[in-house]
Amino acid sequence: MLLLALVLLGTALALAVLCPRVLTAGRWHLFHPRAALTVWFGSFGVGIATALAGIALGIVAVESLRHTIPHTTSVTVSAVIWVAAGISGVFLVFAFTFAGSLQSLRPASHSHAVAYARDEHIGFTLVRFHSETPEAYAVPGRRPEIFVSSAMEQLLTPPQLQAVLAHEFAHLRHQHGLAIRIAQLNTLVLPGTRASRALERATRLQIELAADDAAARQVGAAHLANALIVLAAATHDVGMTLRAERLTRKRWPTPQRRRIPQGLHAAAQLR
Ligand SMILES: [Zn+2]
Repeated sequence: MLLLALVLLGTALALAVLCPRVLTAGRWHLFHPRAALTVWFGSFGVGIATALAGIALGIVAVESLRHTIPHTTSVTVSAVIWVAAGISGVFLVFAFTFAGSLQSLRPASHSHAVAYARDEHIGFTLVRFHSETPEAYAVPGRRPEIFVSSAMEQLLTPPQLQAVLAHEFAHLRHQHGLAIRIAQLNTLVLPGTRASRALERATRLQIELAADDAAARQVGAAHLANALIVLAAATHDVGMTLRAERLTRKRWPTPQRRRIPQGLHAAAQLR
């Protein structure tokens, strides 16, 4: 039983070390971000379950061994496993206590945005605010919000703006805030490890690409790509140029097969 516990713990460790390497190898994850996210979090869940099962089994194994053969080295092993379980417990409590205050998809620098209009749409509230920086972001919650700056509205055409809103709406609809939170929790539990840093980085990139894909399917890849190119020129963000380029390399449904979410119809008539 002790051997099985060690195998389980070893498997969890191997998953934590190998998964980020295997999952970031090559370029497949750039073209299938949603599948990559599913694999990421599937293996993360399996890793956590395996580690917990390993710890529980280890405690049972060592305790039963201690009862049959008293005063053996198992006392030391027992102590080590109990300490490990204790440390994991403390980390989990710490992580969940601080989880509430973790940043959502909202950038920290925009916490003082002054809204000049709030419009209710199906599935979200559109908050328009004054800012000379073209920006948009989604804030998940009981009543989800999408923030759009005045500079963004002035810079983009209505179809481009609708593409940006579809991107933000995809973040809300596909619970991307939760994905970031799980990745951040992982970094809190395993601070400074390569695996947790890789998971957080990959999550941030893949939720952007997955939201791009959703928006491209709903409102058209050309509108989103054009919006990204305009924004890249205005903000000097090379990442946006690369995202626009990636959109041109994929196949998209024909205009007749696009399904624009209801809430985004009205939101397109902003100006
Ligand atoms: Zn985004």
